[in-house]
Order: sequence, then structure tokens, then C-alpha cells
Amino acid sequence: MRKSTKSALCAAIIIMLFALSACGGTKPESSSFQAMDTLMTLTVYGDEEIGAEIKEEILSLDRALDATDENSEIHHLNTEKSAAVSEDTADLLNRSLQLCGDLDGFFDITVYPAVTAWGFTTGEYRVPSDSELKTLADHIDYTAVKLSDNGVRIPDGVMLDLGAVAKGYAADRSIELLNNSKAQAAVLNLGGTIGLFGKKPDGSRFKVGIADPENPAGYFGYLSCDLGIVATSGGYERYFERDGKRYIHILDPATAKPADNHIASFTIVTDNGAKADAMSTALFVMGLDKATDYYRTHDGFDCVILTDDGSLYITEGIYDDFTLDSGHRYTVNRINKP
Ligand code: AMP
Ligand code: MG
Repeated sequence: MRKSTKSALCAAIIIMLFALSACGGTKPESSSFQAMDTLMTLTVYGDEEIGAEIKEEILSLDRALDATDENSEIHHLNTEKSAAVSEDTADLLNRSLQLCGDLDGFFDITVYPAVTAWGFTTGEYRVPSDSELKTLADHIDYTAVKLSDNGVRIPDGVMLDLGAVAKGYAADRSIELLNNSKAQAAVLNLGGTIGLFGKKPDGSRFKVGIADPENPAGYFGYLSCDLGIVATSGGYERYFERDGKRYIHILDPATAKPADNHIASFTIVTDNGAKADAMSTALFVMGLDKATDYYRTHDGFDCVILTDDGSLYITEGIYDDFTLDSGHRYTVNRINKP
């Protein structure tokens, strides 16, 4: 998965500050570590041991899922085309394939050959030719992944990439562990995916900063939340520039090309991590109009959308929970259900 960045570190610190400052006198246990190519920070109230267990769980998921690690289950599957996988990996694949369908193929876990062709896995960036892109796009097809009791099969030319959903799934597994612990509350900052658990000691709501694409060490606003997941996707996380054009790591599965639709960042708020993470990537690719239609025809989530002309679009369910940072002059628009 992606290399960690300084910006992820700073964003993590900012979110931590929010978490700590809003939590009254009770001292939380905090720990940070590197996993899934980002800095993760766990802040837990009321249980001194669960943080270590959560870290172990996330590191174990990372070892199984990282397509760039030649010892991982996904790497093995991508090279052998057929493999038995662990229960966790099978569970995530099953969940991911459902999400690919629910998200109309804008989220597609078979983008790996295209991600590699653009150089996003190695940092050796290049712009593939039109004919290469056509072949790559022809091989992006989540329906070709066959999952059975005996394992997983994929055809030649198809490879899996769970990078858009792994952090969200890790948040779900972590919250399951918290549910079976003594912890009273927790803020899990897993890179761009934040998991919120329990009730803070002082009864106040959690505040989650949303990274500013212009300066990812800062934030353009924050959301007050109770439980749930806040997942953000942005081109600023990984991109390169060639001949004055910016190419980002979020690809349109239909073309195998980077999304190029004036979205600067897309945040989803919902109750499930895998869903939030897959949706932030997919709705980013959809762009403002299609994503707005999707919001109006589907229930169970809310969005904060920032476009590259400095316009913010916030859906009605969280409109009153959002505060724009005083240093930002974005125009704020509200998206309503019909
Ligand atoms: P995220 O940061 O969650 O938006 O995930 C982006 C990562 O997921 C990229 O670095 C790619 O590895 C992979 N990816 C890019 N585009 C897609 C897509 N449309 N569907 C699924 N995975 C994608
Ligand atoms: Mg995602």
C-alpha cells in the first residue's frame, strides 16, 4: 500500500489534539504506529490493554492484505491466480465484492494492474499509452473474482488491490475488539479513516478534523460526531505531475485513468468502516453530480465534498455538525434529500 507521508502524521496529530482536548480530565491511553502505509493513532479511554490488541489485529490484517508485500495473501493470489485465504481475507473479499456492486463499479478491487502501471505502488510514475490504458481498463472487472469455500480464483491479467477498503475494514475489526473490552470510549485514527467508539468521559461529542487538500498538515473544518466512521479520500494523498497536469492515485475503473473531475476531497460519515472507506473512494470517482444523485437515492450515509474551486457541499444529515475553520473562505452548500 501507499508510503506514509508527513501530512498523514500531521493530520493524525491534529485529530489527536481534538480528541484529547475534548475529553475532560480522564486520561486516555494513546499509541501510534505505522501500518497500511500510514501513521495510525489509537486513543482509548478506560482500558490500558486493548490498544495493543488492536495494533496486533491491524498489523496482522496489513500482513495479509498488502498487495505490494510478497509474503501477503493478496500478493500470493495475484501471482498464483488461485489460493486458499484466511477467514479474515475471505470475509473482506466477500464484503468488498458486495460493495463493488452496491457502488456500481466505481469502487472496483481489481484496479491493481492499473495502479501499478501508473507507478503508484513504486513511486516510478509514468503515463501509460492509450492502448495500454484500454487493455488495463478491459481487465478491471470485479465480477471476474470467484470466491468459494475452497478459496479465491482470478483470471490472468486480473489482480486485486484492497487499499481503498483495508483501513475501513481494520476500523470495523478494531471496534469489534473494543465492544468486547472495558473501554469506555476510543478514537481510532487509521490514516484517512477515523473510527469513533463509545461515550467520552465528559459526555461531549467527538470532533474530527478534515484534512485541507492545500495543506494536509492542517484542516479546513471539523465534524462533531457521536459513534461511527469518518473516511476521507483525496488526490492530495498521492499524486504526480507531468507536463503541468496532475495525476492522482484514485482511478476511474471504466478508463483506468486517474479521476479528473474537480473533486479535491470526499468524506463519508456512516456506521461501517469498510463501507465508509469504499464509498469515499467510489463517490470521489463519481464526481459531484453523480455522487449527489447517489446520495439522494441511497440511505445510511452523509458526505462532505470539497471541489477544487473552493466550494463545499454538505449533506443534510450532518450539515449542522460541520464547522468551517476560520482560516478558510469556502462557500458552503447544503445537499438535501428530495
Ligand atoms: P482511498 O485512499 O481509500 O481512496 O483508496 C485509494 C487507493 O485504492 C489507491 O491508492 C489504489 O490503490 C486503490 N484504488 C484507486 N482507485 C480505486 C477504485 N476506483 N476502486 C478501488 N480501489 C481503488
Ligand atoms: Mg477508501
